[in-house]
Amino acid sequence: MQHPVVIIGAGPIGLAAAANAAERGMDFVVLEAGANAGAAVSEWAHVRLFSSWSELVDPAARRLLDAAGTWTAPDDGAYPTGGQWREAYLQPLADALGGTPGGSVRYDARVVGVGRAGRDLMVDSGREGDPFAVHVEGPAGRERLLASAVVDASGTWTRPNPLGADGYPALGETENADRFTYGIPDLNDPAVAARYAGKHVAVAGKGASAQGVLVGLARLAKADPGTRVSWLLRRPSVGDAFGGGDNDQLEQRGKLGQDAKAAATSGMVTNVTQFRTESVTRQADGRLAITSVNGQLVGDVDEVIVVTGFRPDFGFLSEVRLDLDPALGAARVLADQIHPDHHSCGDVAPHGYKELTQPEHGLYLVGMKSYGRAPSFLALTGYEQVRSVMAALDGDLEAAGRVELVLPETGVCNGAGAFDDPDAVASVEGGCCGPAAAEPELISLGRPGQ
Ligand SMILES: Cc1cc2nc3c(=O)[nH]c(=O)nc-3n(C[C@H](O)[C@H](O)[C@H](O)COP(=O)(O)OP(=O)(O)OC[C@H]3O[C@@H](n4cnc5c(N)ncnc54)[C@H](O)[C@@H]3O)c2cc1C
Repeated sequence: MQHPVVIIGAGPIGLAAAANAAERGMDFVVLEAGANAGAAVSEWAHVRLFSSWSELVDPAARRLLDAAGTWTAPDDGAYPTGGQWREAYLQPLADALGGTPGGSVRYDARVVGVGRAGRDLMVDSGREGDPFAVHVEGPAGRERLLASAVVDASGTWTRPNPLGADGYPALGETENADRFTYGIPDLNDPAVAARYAGKHVAVAGKGASAQGVLVGLARLAKADPGTRVSWLLRRPSVGDAFGGGDNDQLEQRGKLGQDAKAAATSGMVTNVTQFRTESVTRQADGRLAITSVNGQLVGDVDEVIVVTGFRPDFGFLSEVRLDLDPALGAARVLADQIHPDHHSCGDVAPHGYKELTQPEHGLYLVGMKSYGRAPSFLALTGYEQVRSVMAALDGDLEAAGRVELVLPETGVCNGAGAFDDPDAVASVEGGCCGPAAAEPELISLGRPGQ
């Protein structure tokens, strides 16, 4: 190939794509917007994964690291935090990849545009043969790189869903951004905990991440009884939020689900159901009042934590041709296999380049981004995606068409996700580790009657 393959993002899947490229002797450049490898993972460094190390190390990456001889493989059976994933695996892998012939990993390199060199979206001729032009912003300004292929592994972390029920920020959400946190705050950090202790906190979301927040806030409430705990839901009832139902293996996840249920039923929690946020206003005393589209009001809110999932950024892909599911924003062929209404992460079948092929020849969306808004992504499945995609880009369609991932018979995501107990495992096999709820819901923490 005349030009390297450009891989966008030095997260787990971008680096796995690069490891496969290195193994095949393909030239590649990994462009990472952050200052180091796993920049998105480092933002949830304090969260313990549900997957064990055996499911978090890509096979090609393991071979590369083993050959480098400087890496100490973690214990396959242990459950790391995001921070440990980054430090013990992602950064060493990126360092090793940077030293391979024809390979480089660049930081502070944000991709802001991908197109066909010399041809905008409208132009048909030459699209299959011409290289891609990748526009990158870094400390030295704007740069244009030519690429034989582009593998977009930029994830979805940078685009959390808003609180607003319409899919846009609620009225007043942006103006009151100083009271909002998107994602899981590290409540074990005293400086972070101080922001919420003794306060009335509203938390949006019902998935594993939201449950982790509930558990952390309940712990704060024990130490500081002034902490108000309530729970607002978009659905008519709490229902099977902690497990049950045929679409949900949450109950099987064990400790986190049980702890979250205990927190939510501890008497500190007020449930406000059928709450779809319309607006957020600042009260005279500086606290927030949150109003739903059906006129319900939750007042005296000090802080809001939004954990309602993520959506992909297609902004820098506006000059390439994509075929995406209109609801999920995932590769269209994949959508049926990953839709959260029918699938949890444990039953998404391994898939590869065929499902991920886009109308723009040589462009693949992989990893978390390939699932669009669906929360069921697993690193293990992403590793199989990029093994197949890189084989296809190398012209090795036999390898690309093979399915090499065998999901463990014991199930995936058996870790408990318990912040304080790295050895805790799910009580029943096959738990689901989706990072967040697909549909926005609001949990608020307050005492009954408030
Ligand atoms: C709290 C939490 C817990 C999770 N637990 C598990 C688990 O237990 N097991 C599991 O398998 N999965 C888990 N996941 C899912 C997990 O996110 C993925 O497995 C993995 O991080 C996805 O990797 P990725 O490389 O696709 O995306 P990311 O990890 O998001 O990496 C994308 C990278 O691209 C970079 N980037 C973004 N935009 C640009 C740009 N324009 N230009 C250049 N670089 C860019 C980012 O900085 C980032 O480094 C969890 C997710 C969360 C949020």
